[in-house]
Amino acid sequence: NADAAMSHAKASGRNNFEFYAAEMSGAIRDELALREGLRHAVARSEFHLAYQPQLDMESGRVTGVEALIRWQHPERGLVSPAQFIPLAEETGLIVPIGEWVLRTACFQNKAWQDAGLPPFIVSVNVSARQFRERTLIAQVSLALRDSGLEPRLLELELTESLVMEDLDKALQSMKALRAMGVQLSIDDFGTGYSSLSALKRFPIARLKIDQSFVRDIPGDEEDKAIAKTIIALGHELNLKVIAEGVETEQQLEFLRAHGCDEMQGYLFSRPVPPAELAALVRMRAGEAAASGQPEARAR
Ligand code: C2E
Ligand code: MG
Ligand code: MG
Ligand code: MG
Repeated sequence: NADAAMSHAKASGRNNFEFYAAEMSGAIRDELALREGLRHAVARSEFHLAYQPQLDMESGRVTGVEALIRWQHPERGLVSPAQFIPLAEETGLIVPIGEWVLRTACFQNKAWQDAGLPPFIVSVNVSARQFRERTLIAQVSLALRDSGLEPRLLELELTESLVMEDLDKALQSMKALRAMGVQLSIDDFGTGYSSLSALKRFPIARLKIDQSFVRDIPGDEEDKAIAKTIIALGHELNLKVIAEGVETEQQLEFLRAHGCDEMQGYLFSRPVPPAELAALVRMRAGEAAASGQPEARAR
């Protein structure tokens, strides 16, 4: 009856609550432990970079590689950047971690160049907090000087929201980086909220179409329209356009047919360790040369 039902509901409600509270404190403890681990991860050399190639659609050559951070946690194994970059942002640890990424990527690209690979750009992701810090410009200039990498072979990937946070200040920093010879691109384009009037003022070289617009090509008509529009917009503004998250031949064909300049995605390669990346670059350079540069295709 009603009373019994009521007290049952209360009891199970309480049990659910207790269960929920235990779960919650577990999750919080987990996050605290992760935060604590993050504090020591640079000093303990638990980070490494994986590199994902970016191909020119026409020649099939590797024109760039994106450096992607990996955290090999002593107990948890590989922790995804989607999980720890937000924590690093919150705690400010992104500043030393970002500096480590920048330096490692510059030294690595210089080593590839010294090993005789054809020149290509290394792209480094910059997060909002890192971009806001005045130290970024100095970090970049030191990383270039210490590694000896040519500035034109370094690109920084910014996001729309990061730039729009404080447009005037961002434009100043972007101009200072451009003056050093560093390339700039907008990552995850189409998911942020930059205005077209702001976009035309960005001193950037490339737009990266966000993978959410590529994923459902060719099935999704709206995504196809968006991808086509970003390509056309980029070209009107004299920018190169690269698609990320390309996983299938159909996606590649669609993007190629609409004039997309470059592609990055599992279809060609996942992010890989440096030695594997060097092998991919050599293979692509050889194939493009063997089949006559302009006709060679991305696959
Ligand atoms: P992002 O910069 O947009 O990087 C692209 C992400 O898509 C990478 O995930 C990459 O592994 C993944 N990806 C590439 N091709 C494909 C594909 O064909 N299919 C699918 N499903 N995914 C693909 P990852 O490495 O897990 O990185 C996630 C995000 O974490 C990055 O997104 C970036 O925002 C951030 N991140 C990674 N490394 C760094 C870093 O060194 N510094 C900062 N600040 N952020 C980083
Ligand atoms: Mg990126
Ligand atoms: Mg992206
Ligand atoms: Mg991103």
